Amino acid sequence: MKIRSFKLKLILSYAFVILASFGFIAFFLDKNLEQNSLWQVRKTIIFGLLFALGFAFILGSFVAGATISPIKRMINISRKYSQGDFSRRIIRQPKDEIGELAATLNKMAQDIEDKIKEIEAQNQKLTAIFSSMIEGVIVVDGQSYIISVNPAIEKIFGILKKDAEGKIFLQAIRNNDIDEIISAALKNKKPLSREITLAYPVRRIFEVNAAAIFTNGAISGCLVVIHDITEIRRLEVVRSDFVANVSHELKTPLTSIKGFVETLLEGALEDKENNRNFLRIIMEHADRLNVLVDDLLSLAHLESKEITIEKKEFNLRGQLEEVIFGFSSQLKKKNVEIENELAENILLTADKNRIQQVFTNLIDNAIKFNKENGSVRVYGQESDNNLKIFVEDTGVGIPEKDIPRIFERFYRVDKARSRALGGTGLGLSIVKHIVELHNGSVGVESTEGFGSKFWFILPK
Ligand code: ADP
Repeated sequence: MKIRSFKLKLILSYAFVILASFGFIAFFLDKNLEQNSLWQVRKTIIFGLLFALGFAFILGSFVAGATISPIKRMINISRKYSQGDFSRRIIRQPKDEIGELAATLNKMAQDIEDKIKEIEAQNQKLTAIFSSMIEGVIVVDGQSYIISVNPAIEKIFGILKKDAEGKIFLQAIRNNDIDEIISAALKNKKPLSREITLAYPVRRIFEVNAAAIFTNGAISGCLVVIHDITEIRRLEVVRSDFVANVSHELKTPLTSIKGFVETLLEGALEDKENNRNFLRIIMEHADRLNVLVDDLLSLAHLESKEITIEKKEFNLRGQLEEVIFGFSSQLKKKNVEIENELAENILLTADKNRIQQVFTNLIDNAIKFNKENGSVRVYGQESDNNLKIFVEDTGVGIPEKDIPRIFERFYRVDKARSRALGGTGLGLSIVKHIVELHNGSVGVESTEGFGSKFWFILPK
């Protein structure tokens, strides 16, 4: 039977020593009493006591050794724990209280190791989020000393993390607006949000959010999150411009229609000479509204997320031929020559109807903005992966300053001229959308007064 209590072990071993000593003394006393000598009795008792002392010493050393060696091992391993190394375990565990202590130490080390791993994993996750955030994040302490910045901040302000951390905010990032926001957040305890504009290196608009960090109920620092909203603000301007443009474009023909209808109602209906003329003008404006609404609808459809392109293989030259045929009367009216120089064998896999729209819009412009007796050439350049198509005219050309904006919605070099020619200002932006939906790109080269060369590239 194994004894599982260290205390019991000690008691039993000392009881054993005492019993053995008594036994020894009793045995010799018994023999020596016969000889009836007091000296012999004393000798036996002293001898017995010495024996008991020696025996107790040997047994005590054995028990102490057996007890101390696992404690020493535990002390050594505990030292490792205090140095942060929780990987060690106490392997030999006696089956007593010391064994229980060793098991408890092992469990504690295992728990701490698991906790550390969990905290490390959480830390790694947080660092990954912090580093990959598009928003800039700055953490400062209660005295505005920078504790941490993320890579987005390095990019926004053109600074290095290692130079910024540890410095007072204004010393590292010379931005008074943000410094004021930090001071206010540290003072007011309330989260703050403000819009700021950075002029350098390029003008950008940021939304700055600052919130105080609390430790044990007191403010210990401030967290600043900086969000680039330049694109959002730009889109807002584009949207409001678009609404203004659409309203204006719709209003012009509508005002004319209303004016002519009123004139007719006020008596012009009886004016045999002009009434048909007025009606024709109304009809023209109605047509114009129709074209405008059609263009707006195609643009809205092209810009919507649900749009799908139905690709199939077709002969490009054949398709261009059909488009050119549709322009016969305009070509004749202006006496403009058009050359289809596309190779016979170009097979393209794309959305046929939409590519037809691209050709239609570009050729329409090439005729509209051409000079009398001018010409238009359509030709292609093939490379391994791409097909580049050019629509070149000998028309009025485009001033250099207008070229970068020519594909914008409603952008026109000469508004009155475009309107007079039946344009809506949406043709080129429809072209751009269609080509980009095919993962292609568009562009133009032009010299004012000498003509323009529009091109689009489509992947084969
Ligand atoms: P629209 O032709 O209806 O006015 P677009 O979007 O097709 O609208 O064209 C925008 C503007 O670009 C035109 O108003 C015109 O000023 C200019 N433009 C387009 N194509 C040509 C061209 N081939 N030659 C000269 N200017 C052009």
